Amino acid sequence: MKTRTAMIWLFALMAPVSFGLSCSNEAPFIKETFVMGTRAVITIYGLDDETASEAAGKALHELHRIETVMSNWIEDSEISLLNHNSEGLPVKVSKELFDIIEESFRYSRLTSGAFDITARPIVQLWGFQGGSPRVPSEEEIASALEKVGYHLVRLDRENLTVTLPARMEIDLAGIGKGYGVDRCVSILKERGVKSALVNLGGNMYAIGSPLGKEYWSVGIREPHGEDGIVGRLLLKDEAVATSGNYENFVTIGGRRYGHIIDPSTGRTVDHILSVTVIAPSALAADALSTGMFVLGPERGAAAAEKIPGLRAVYALEDDTYEFAGEFGKKLILD
Ligand code: ADP
Ligand code: MG
Repeated sequence: MKTRTAMIWLFALMAPVSFGLSCSNEAPFIKETFVMGTRAVITIYGLDDETASEAAGKALHELHRIETVMSNWIEDSEISLLNHNSEGLPVKVSKELFDIIEESFRYSRLTSGAFDITARPIVQLWGFQGGSPRVPSEEEIASALEKVGYHLVRLDRENLTVTLPARMEIDLAGIGKGYGVDRCVSILKERGVKSALVNLGGNMYAIGSPLGKEYWSVGIREPHGEDGIVGRLLLKDEAVATSGNYENFVTIGGRRYGHIIDPSTGRTVDHILSVTVIAPSALAADALSTGMFVLGPERGAAAAEKIPGLRAVYALEDDTYEFAGEFGKKLILD
């Protein structure tokens, strides 16, 4: 966690990644949709168009289904119904929702509470999910923080119930896209896909590698909206996700506040520009990029060590970046 280098990487890594395809002789099959507030793109090599189209269609359909379970923006999604109906009473949920809540709490423990899906009352207080953004008062933050804390939620696996104390709410925005990508990966593999890239708004998983290549080359976009790719990550059977303040923020009194909250203070995290996490699953990459963003480079690296294969790059406000884990030749500056 020591290396510091040129500023270009700072910009490179603060943007959610887009992808640059490694070429092969065969053209890939590509299918996309708009879901979970972002673009989902599936790129498949090595299958005939009909089989690839069927597989990609099933996977993208799964993302739309997951959105109806896990989106806070849909009033009758399962998560919205849980949020509005628990009030201290056990609510029966699907096994899928139960599992992702339980898994989220695992990442809360791993990040000492930095990743916490119960941070929603604070997220709303700042106006990140509608209303007029404003800096809340100390009293408001203290009052909202009373409703935040994953350990306050009761999970009963036997009966598949979740009990949220009054006024507590769950927000799966920091983990749901990663979960969705992993579901797409399972669906594609079940249908014989051996080479594909799933990209859900920068949450990506690389299955195998493109024909004749050792890795998927995932381009890292210039973050100011200018054309071009400034570097590449080489991926094979692993996931990448970026959490940052660059694209998702509110402006209050001319100042930008990013959408990730430190659940221990109720405040936004401003000293880090982004963290890009490479992990064995897209769910891990998504949850940990959010959690490690809150933890910062030092505590983040300590959390990262607990997961084999995990690597991360922090882009810091002072125009430097720091690494967790070994990249070797899998990080290339163009
Ligand atoms: P994105 O949604 O842009 O992919 P993230 O995966 O980092 O980015 O998720 C950020 C979202 O997660 C926020 O918009 C908010 O809804 C929610 N959130 C904010 N702070 C936290 C936190 N500390 N732990 C878990 N979720 C959070
Ligand atoms: Mg996340």
